Amino acid sequence: MPYLRPHTLDAALARLAERPRRVLCGATDCFAAPALVPGRHEWVDISGIDALRGIVRQGGVVRIGAATTWEAITQAAWLPVALRDAAAGVGSRQIRVQGTIGGNLCHASPVADGLPPLLSLDANVELASVRGVRHLPLHDFVLGSHRTALMADELLMAVTFPLPAASERTAFVKCTNRDGMVLAVVSAAVRLRMADDDTLAIAAISIGGASEVPLRMPALEAALAGRPRRELDATVADASLAALSPIDDCRATAVHRMDLARLALARAISHCIEESAHDDSAH
Ligand SMILES: Cc1cc2nc3c(=O)[nH]c(=O)nc-3n(C[C@H](O)[C@H](O)[C@H](O)COP(=O)(O)OP(=O)(O)OC[C@H]3O[C@@H](n4cnc5c(N)ncnc54)[C@H](O)[C@@H]3O)c2cc1C
Repeated sequence: MPYLRPHTLDAALARLAERPRRVLCGATDCFAAPALVPGRHEWVDISGIDALRGIVRQGGVVRIGAATTWEAITQAAWLPVALRDAAAGVGSRQIRVQGTIGGNLCHASPVADGLPPLLSLDANVELASVRGVRHLPLHDFVLGSHRTALMADELLMAVTFPLPAASERTAFVKCTNRDGMVLAVVSAAVRLRMADDDTLAIAAISIGGASEVPLRMPALEAALAGRPRRELDATVADASLAALSPIDDCRATAVHRMDLARLALARAISHCIEESAHDDSAH
């Protein structure tokens, strides 16, 4: 099969500008999909480009290179808990050593573990081509199930997000049909801050697996803001979650997915609150 493995970003972008070619990085999604059997495409393997790897923090902003593996993310102890927990739950160790954050976002599965935490962190993506670099909010990058705003000659270079304030907590909860290496049925990611009077000051909430793309839930975030801690469970239980549009399939019914969304959300909120209380008692 035609296969190129450039070692610089410029060389990769030049190849993509010549004619449409398929990008691959860790190849854990590419070679698992029957529609993408290797022989059908010309491939550009970007896994040898050092400039696309690494996790840096500068001026309160975190930048993760697209070719950074899930294993590397689990090892960066200072990253938000939601993102590290999502990373730790991607497939088996073999998949995490090989699979990348960029591949996860570009594959744009409704159950991609990377999407809910990054949406809750207000992440942006950096896209590069020979025409230059453009930046998009992550929620504008993922257009639908396995559809993104990436153009044929573009590479995802990195994902960036503001490092949450010290008073904020994050959590990710993945609901699966069995233990072990398995995709989510539904997942939830939360970033929140409790105020001194024990009300919820801010919440950023995302649900995966219950709609065509993982979604932020602004109506629910507004409904939770300002509520005392004792009312949070009831608010989640009564919320309409009308933005979600879960499907029925062999893995779960739509009704079950809705129940799981509520369950995952309530657990993620309670993990965040427990963390806040633990930190307060430690000071
Ligand atoms: C056994 C198994 C278990 C898995 N378990 C999980 C799981 O629990 N949770 C989960 O979320 N996922 C899971 N996955 C899916 C997959 O491992 C992840 O989505 C992984 O992060 C993909 O990264 P990759 O580098 O291997 O992507 P690749 O397979 O190399 O690429 C995936 C797609 O992204 C494109 N692409 C990759 N990088 C770029 C880039 N920088 N710019 C432009 N396009 C790019 C490719 O063209 C392709 O369309 C699993 C896969 C397998 C095989």
